[in-house]
Amino acid sequence: MSRTETTAALLLRSVDYGDSDRIVTLLTESRGKVAVMARGARASKKRFAGALEPYALIEAEIALGRGDVGRLAQARVVRAFPGLLGSLEKIGVAAAALEIVRETVAEHDAPDERLVPTVVRFLERLEESTPDAIDGLHLGFALRLLALTGHAPNLEVCGRCGRPAPEGKAALFSPPVGAIVCQACGGGPRKLGGPLRMAMIEAQGRVWDQPDERRTSDGLGAIEAFLEYHLSRRLAGGDLVTQVRAVTRSER
Ligand SMILES: [Zn+2]
Repeated sequence: MSRTETTAALLLRSVDYGDSDRIVTLLTESRGKVAVMARGARASKKRFAGALEPYALIEAEIALGRGDVGRLAQARVVRAFPGLLGSLEKIGVAAAALEIVRETVAEHDAPDERLVPTVVRFLERLEESTPDAIDGLHLGFALRLLALTGHAPNLEVCGRCGRPAPEGKAALFSPPVGAIVCQACGGGPRKLGGPLRMAMIEAQGRVWDQPDERRTSDGLGAIEAFLEYHLSRRLAGGDLVTQVRAVTRSER
């Protein structure tokens, strides 16, 4: 017995399986994160008509049986983001962002209908972003996503003693604690300036996708260190972005 449903989805990962199939991990609007078997996806490029490429919003028809892995019956592209493809830096940041989604959304979490639109909004903003605004956008998205998935770092009160940091003032962030830590409790290695810290707190709410000069690379570095620590391994996406930047900067 299986039933079929149609949902908006984003491709998070695709792994070859056997000679002709793929197992794809999707972030879906109706089911959250699911892994489904895409039969024939390797054997025929026409089978899913380009819908199993990364960085596109797709409409997926999935059949969920009793077993662990459902089946992808059909998929079509609803919205592509061609503006990403001309920029290695943007592709690298999109890959890093989708990796954060894949690692922070658990497969059996209740679906959160805000996740797919948030990722789509990010891809739209990234597509039109100027090069100097990319880090700030990446940081805004990472903070918003962590807030939506219940992994938000605590940027307002000391993670050890609970004392609030004075509003608008700099604070020391500790990636292992996942919080700012006050001087009396030993502080943390990542200094977040006052305006940056305020902007990071705001980005956990709804105001994450507007360009904001306060969201600097210090904040992105702190969040990447936090993710690395809590995901217990280094995210490949961050490395990819670093490598791409090294190449593109040397070419400028
Ligand atoms: Zn403290």
